[in-house]
Amino acid sequence: MDFQLSETHRSLRKEVRTFAEKEIAPIAATIDRDQSFPSELFERLAELGYAGGGVPPAYQGTFSNYLSVVITGEELARVSASIPVALFPHSILCAHNIFRYGSEAQKERYLPVLARGRRWGAMALAEEAAGSDIFSLRTKAKRSGNDYVLRGSKTYITNVPFAEVYLVFAKTGEGDGPENISAFIVERDSEGFSFGKTFDKMGMRGSPTGRLFFKNCKTPAKNLLGGEEGIGYRQLFKGMDVERVSWASIALGIAQASFESALNYSKKRRQFKKPLIDFQMIQYMISEMAVNVEAARLLTYKGASLLDRGMNARFEASAAKLFSAEAAVKTSGDAVQIHGGAGYMKNHAVERYFRDAKILTVAAGSSEVQRMIIAHELKRKDRNEAFIC
Ligand SMILES: Cc1cc2nc3c(=O)[nH]c(=O)nc-3n(C[C@H](O)[C@H](O)[C@H](O)COP(=O)(O)OP(=O)(O)OC[C@H]3O[C@@H](n4cnc5c(N)ncnc54)[C@H](O)[C@@H]3O)c2cc1C
Repeated sequence: MDFQLSETHRSLRKEVRTFAEKEIAPIAATIDRDQSFPSELFERLAELGYAGGGVPPAYQGTFSNYLSVVITGEELARVSASIPVALFPHSILCAHNIFRYGSEAQKERYLPVLARGRRWGAMALAEEAAGSDIFSLRTKAKRSGNDYVLRGSKTYITNVPFAEVYLVFAKTGEGDGPENISAFIVERDSEGFSFGKTFDKMGMRGSPTGRLFFKNCKTPAKNLLGGEEGIGYRQLFKGMDVERVSWASIALGIAQASFESALNYSKKRRQFKKPLIDFQMIQYMISEMAVNVEAARLLTYKGASLLDRGMNARFEASAAKLFSAEAAVKTSGDAVQIHGGAGYMKNHAVERYFRDAKILTVAAGSSEVQRMIIAHELKRKDRNEAFIC
């Protein structure tokens, strides 16, 4: 067991941090305040290869391993969590899933354009009636000649409306069973495709979130992911481990930023003729923050490393998502506390961290859903052995 990052991963962290501090930090407060999607920054992300972070070089991307994905997510989120929240639905949930489960023709058609950021992607699963309970999907897809015709709607979809390529989950059979779920690649300019206006959100305001409507929307039959009906649930379920460690890394970045800000402030701010850090109750909060950040990092990196080795990471990915999301909420809340009145003001970054953090316990599988998955894993007989390490 080696807790040191390789030279490659250390220099990746340095590179992403330098970029984020130079090019994202100056706009982080503005995109949050105005709830504006930074399209020029996304052009820059494409130019630098971040758009291709889920696509291997064979398809013109930059993906090499999951540990690099989470280090990138952590460092971007440390400066503005909205950026990886918009980037990952493109690079991981859409492009990486097409890479993992698409046919060769689908990969050749979509991956290079997604990897170069010529077109942006999104993943559309959630519906009004199907949030945590994805078996309640109501969007239907029916084969009609050389097309599938989709009817239904999606809600809370990140990157609506700027994404042009959507990975859409719909039912191809009757009933609630997993065998009725299929995934489709649907282009924004498809007949019958439309979107609603973007939501006004508490946090992650630099990433757009909206609704999609499929009114007899036609997508070519060749866009059925993997070319087979009824395997969408399996594709989704396997892809979720990657999604969870990616989301854990965003939470980790927020927790890290909150901790750094609180530590610095507690050393500078004096009350009762002493810096705050000299008070035991502040020391308690700061030391808890440090431990939570470190534990979130270990869980997240472990989940990513297991995936890199092709190992089962269901428990670890859920544990990382659960712990990191809760740690981000706790740490950013304590950071506001330590900043006192200053931390409650809109011009202070910790106020944004606190609002941004909350969605991480809700989206991409809420904390309750992660606990359900963890409990399910614990019930499995062969689990004990894995806990030894
Ligand atoms: C900003 C944002 C961005 C999003 N981006 C995307 C996206 O890009 N693509 C996409 O497909 N979806 C996206 N989502 C949807 C997101 O994944 C769902 O909001 C999430 O899965 C929760 O579903 P829900 O909101 O319907 O809540 P519900 O499922 O209605 O849950 C409400 C509450 O009940 C709890 N709960 C539900 N079932 C149980 C249970 N069995 N036991 C205990 N507690 C339970 C939940 O944990 C939650 O606390 C996004 C959501 C938001 C807010």
